[in-house]
Amino acid sequence: MADATQRWEDNVPGKWYVDKSCILCSLCSDLAPNNFKESQQGDHDVVYRQPRNPQEEEQSKVAMEQCPVEAIGCNGLEAAPVAVGERETAGGPHEKTGVAPRHD
Ligand code: SF4
Repeated sequence: MADATQRWEDNVPGKWYVDKSCILCSLCSDLAPNNFKESQQGDHDVVYRQPRNPQEEEQSKVAMEQCPVEAIGCNGLEAAPVAVGERETAGGPHEKTGVAPRHD
């Protein structure tokens, strides 16, 4: 799983990130090109833009699932599956209502 304490500094701020275990296979930038790309240093990929819509969120999730070294993280939520009934506290939409919690 990705480690939020090891996220590359050149990820843009936000919940999605690439950590320092990235091996620059470029799969994420192929799967979610609106959000991931090679860093300027050329030795890892980064999140250069946080997902802005459901399609980009889905592409980023696929990239996270497919990353061969699990270097993609999403606010630490990848660390443990979210149990039914705990979705509101975990940041995802409610299981039954589909309503996402507010983080004002
Ligand atoms: S898929 Fe994973 S290992 Fe490959 S470039 Fe993206 S973050 Fe790095």
